[in-house]
Amino acid sequence: MSRFLDVRHETLKPYTPGEQPKKRSFIKLNTNENPYPPSPKVLAAINSEELLDLRLYSDTGASALVQAIAENYGLSEDQVFTGNGSDEVLAFSFMAFCGKKGIMFPNISYGFYRVYADLFKVRSQEIPLRDDFSIDTDPYCRPGSNVVIANPNAPTGLALATDQIERIVRAHPDDVVIIDEAYVDFGAESCVPLIDRFENLLIIQTFSKSRSLAGGRIGFAMGNSGLIADLNRIKFSFHPYNLGRLPILAGTAAMRDTEYFRSCVGRIVDVRDRTAAALQAMGCAVTESKANFLFVRLPGIPGLTAQTKLRDRGILVRRFDEPAIRDWLRVSIGTDEDMQFFLRTVECILKGE
Ligand code: PMP
Repeated sequence: MSRFLDVRHETLKPYTPGEQPKKRSFIKLNTNENPYPPSPKVLAAINSEELLDLRLYSDTGASALVQAIAENYGLSEDQVFTGNGSDEVLAFSFMAFCGKKGIMFPNISYGFYRVYADLFKVRSQEIPLRDDFSIDTDPYCRPGSNVVIANPNAPTGLALATDQIERIVRAHPDDVVIIDEAYVDFGAESCVPLIDRFENLLIIQTFSKSRSLAGGRIGFAMGNSGLIADLNRIKFSFHPYNLGRLPILAGTAAMRDTEYFRSCVGRIVDVRDRTAAALQAMGCAVTESKANFLFVRLPGIPGLTAQTKLRDRGILVRRFDEPAIRDWLRVSIGTDEDMQFFLRTVECILKGE
């Protein structure tokens, strides 16, 4: 830290992203990326003509992408906002809606909620999960504060049903309820159908997981046109060209290739469920994940030991050092072969090898 850093940021604890190793030799199950490449239509969309056009600024409205998203979800274009990854969309949402009003979120959830609350000096209330890691929705039904919930939650993978979320949204007529659906495509119910009924519901999704474009940095929000206009007010006060030309092309092509999307998601869900069953058969605790990762505890083996042993054998997984979950591993779903190797490795570790 230099002596020039503003005093307001002296205590800021930045988010720690999962390791991105330089070598490709690891089986990377630590950042919930998609093991399959983007749709072939994405590769076709990024041609040499488009590369030459990089001398031009990008479309500040990302209109081709917004149109593809709106058509896919049956929304109008003024109900869609796009950003540089859903992280940026979340940050804009904190800036737009949470200044004076605080925000509540689960105490075990996506780490960036805490970081943004800290960075933007937003009063936050962290609501404990139940002992089984599920979300008790009652505390979220107290109005007077905004809400952000990841559904499915991370890193637990557990999902709430739409009617549980609707109850929260109804309880907050004057607050914004943000549902972070980063992982929703892998088996949870999306709240998009509620948008037309609730002007205070903002849904955030990403191309990073189910559409294989983590490196493209494309996220989006869907909600009432008023909320979307507010997000644009922030974006145009911060960074109008927040999506580059190539991500706009890539995202548009990926959103339009429904068949490819369905087939990748289907494979991941199938491999996830088979991996979960195999881990349970070995005596591991596994939550009922509706995401593209599993949350796992190896019997009798501390989390750090399990993570280190996996790493020594070439497999990266994620672990969070918070007391309630430090013995749990978050394991992204890779290809069938990746997960077979992971299961064989877990078996060896459990045998003490
Ligand atoms: N929300 C949740 C719950 C996540 O786990 C992540 C990924 N780390 C994000 C949002 C951000 O994803 P991205 O910025 O890649 O869209």
